Amino acid sequence: RACEPKPRPDLSNLVVLAGPTAVGKGTVAAYIRENHPDVLLSVSATTRAPREGEVDGQHYYFVDDAEFDRMIAQRELLEWATVHGVHRYGTPRGPIERALADGRSVLLEIDMQGAFQVRASDPSATLVFLLPPSWDELVNRLVGRGTEDEAERTRRLRTAKDELAAQGEFDFRVVNEDVAEAARQVVELLQASAR
Ligand code: 5GP
Repeated sequence: RACEPKPRPDLSNLVVLAGPTAVGKGTVAAYIRENHPDVLLSVSATTRAPREGEVDGQHYYFVDDAEFDRMIAQRELLEWATVHGVHRYGTPRGPIERALADGRSVLLEIDMQGAFQVRASDPSATLVFLLPPSWDELVNRLVGRGTEDEAERTRRLRTAKDELAAQGEFDFRVVNEDVAEAARQVVELLQASAR
C-alpha cells in the first residue's frame, strides 16, 4: 500500500491573473491577500534583484541563476519564463499543490507566457486578463511608479502591445479602473471556480 500513487491535485480552483506591465496586477493581488487570507497568493522565484522594500519569501524568493537552474531540473516549478527579455521568474509547485489539496483557492500573478504554460498543464485553470482603462493610462502608471528607466519602459511597453493583442485568448477580462472593484471581480472568479 505504500506504493499507492498519489492522487493528482485538482487544479480547478487555480486562477491566473496576467496583464501588461504597470496595469496593477501586484496591487490587485495585494488587495486580495489583505482581504481574503483564505486565498493562497503564490510567491514566485526570480533571478532579478530585490527592489527597495521587497522582502525575500514575501514578495519573491530571490535566487541566483544556479538555484533557478536547480529548481527547473528538479521540476519544482509549475511554470517559468524569461520576462521582459532579462530575468527569469517561476512558480513553485509545492505550496500550490498543498493548498489545492486542502481545498483552498490559489491565485497566481504571473506574466502571459506563464499563464499559457499553466493552461497547458491544466486546462481547467481560469485565466484572467487585467486591462488598463486606456493605453494612455497604462503609460501614465508606468511612468508614475518610476521604477524603470526610459530604456526599460520602452521594452515593457513593446511587450504590453503584444500582450494586449492576445487578450482574447483569456477566459475573462477585468478592467482595473478601481482596485477594490477589480479585486472583487477576481475574487468572484476564484469563488466561482472553486468547488
Ligand atoms: P516585476 O519584476 O515587475 O516584479 O515582474 C515582472 C513581470 O514578471 C510581471 O509581469 C510579473 O507578472 C511577472 N512574473 C512574476 N512572477 C512570475 C512567475 O512566477 N512566472 C511568470 N511567468 N511571470 C512572473
